Amino acid sequence: MRCVYCGHTDSRVLETRVADDGSTIRRRRECLKCGQRFTTFEKIDEMPLWVIKKDGRRELFNSRKVLEGLLRACEKRPVPYERLEQMSEEIEKSFRQGSLQREISTGEIGERVMDMLKDLDGVAYVRFASVYREFKDIGTFLDEIKRLLENGQKENGQKESGLGENGLGESGLKESGLGENDQRENGGNGL
Ligand SMILES: [Zn+2]
Repeated sequence: MRCVYCGHTDSRVLETRVADDGSTIRRRRECLKCGQRFTTFEKIDEMPLWVIKKDGRRELFNSRKVLEGLLRACEKRPVPYERLEQMSEEIEKSFRQGSLQREISTGEIGERVMDMLKDLDGVAYVRFASVYREFKDIGTFLDEIKRLLENGQKENGQKESGLGENGLGESGLKESGLGENDQRENGGNGL
């Protein structure tokens, strides 16, 4: 299993747990190179869930790709890795449950990720949304930030979103890759 942090392929299993319904085996692992911990899941033969990509290609749903998108959006943000892992599981679950639909679009996944990020971390949300929605111009981008700040102020008298303090000014934009169009050509959010 490839380490999510450094890409090393050797890890040791710290803990193995079987989910309540017996459908999933969850393994807590530690990377032998960088020492970071992550979780992997083995699933017992489920109905395949297909993802239809923008260019029309189909591939099997992979919660790991969702997790990678989340990690990228939350880089250097105060969000625990476990929370992101949990979110990617919740997203997969939400698609598997309560629907006989066996095909979903990358758009549906993106919208669900954004919904969750919006409540979690403002900066991460804007990062993800900017790549995902492919903001056409700076105006749309600023509208989104403004909307976000207004919501933040309504909810808790501000600061929580972390926008301001991280200075989504020039350096912030550069760091998060906003405004660089090639990001999406390289696979965007990995969805
Ligand atoms: Zn590693």
